[in-house]
Amino acid sequence: MAGTPCAFPLLLLLLGPPLKGPAPALGYNIDTVHPEVLASNASRNFGYQVLQFKDASIIVGAPGDQNSTGELYQCAVKKGSCQPIPLPASAQTAHLGMSLASSGADAQMIACGSGLSRTCDGNQYLSGICYLFKGHLEQPKEMTPGFEECLKGNVDLVFLFDGSGSMNAEQFKAIKDFMIEVMEKLGNSTIRFAAVQFSLDVKTEFDFNDYERNRNPRELLKEVIHMNKLTETFHAINYVANKVFTPERGAREDVTRVMIIITDGEPTDSGNVNAAKEKNIVRYIIGIGNNFDESQASLTRFASEPTSQFVKVLDSFEKLKGLFSELQAKIYAIEGTWCVAWSVEDTAWQHPLVHALDMHSP
Ligand SMILES: [Mg+2]
Repeated sequence: MAGTPCAFPLLLLLLGPPLKGPAPALGYNIDTVHPEVLASNASRNFGYQVLQFKDASIIVGAPGDQNSTGELYQCAVKKGSCQPIPLPASAQTAHLGMSLASSGADAQMIACGSGLSRTCDGNQYLSGICYLFKGHLEQPKEMTPGFEECLKGNVDLVFLFDGSGSMNAEQFKAIKDFMIEVMEKLGNSTIRFAAVQFSLDVKTEFDFNDYERNRNPRELLKEVIHMNKLTETFHAINYVANKVFTPERGAREDVTRVMIIITDGEPTDSGNVNAAKEKNIVRYIIGIGNNFDESQASLTRFASEPTSQFVKVLDSFEKLKGLFSELQAKIYAIEGTWCVAWSVEDTAWQHPLVHALDMHSP
């Protein structure tokens, strides 16, 4: 988030009266000896963000300090005074005032803070909260982008991962690391995992029963050996549908079934995925590298519909590292819960201020 805790002393310096001079200058002078102190009773984070607002005032953010909540001030520079901006009771967030932005034309100002936390499935999620002010800085509109709901039901999820010889050891390890990351981060959820490697053959590396006995993904995957042969994807998908999503393998009834297929290339076999469709297995495909037909026709044949939502192509194995959040959102969406606003891929996720102002512009 933009800003620096050093903004306070900078503000004081800027508020000092400029030295008068008879001629235009290429620079300006700062009175470092007689700074004018505003809001001396505010928290020590006063000045974390400073924003010029309309003609004659500035907005100053004062994020909270330890147990205090964040505040906003409107300061009249000529008068040398600051007044707290009234905030709704819901605005008791510690970091409010870390970000400020305005749109000059219609006199809107938005103030945001991070640190809005929520515990879900044993994991804690942090999000931001913003308040959009108009005109006289009264009765702001609250905005909480991108807050996920918790999983409400149970999910059985199988990773079906490619072990074909077209991958080197490092690339194969990247896939394992990705699966470990997902399982570690969702280890406290209602999701149960299994993992199957495929190449010319198929091997259940661990099933749902194994996962119930030991939820440590590093241990569950430590014996995996790269098969290094062909890419019999159709065969593998049918294997998972018929042999892994079964009571003997620990699969449950009345759960959402999900298959995450991770592959680096076109299948070397043919067939269909009817068995998976008949079992209502949601199929999410992650294709990695440049070995796919331009139309991605094979990937779309594996995926659930609409395929635009269930096919993800990454141009490098490195990008698996950034995929967790998106995959998590997909799983939550698949499971029937909702996510309030933007997809994690949306650039606005990283720039909520800009996006929020855009939303409210005429
Ligand atoms: Mg391959």
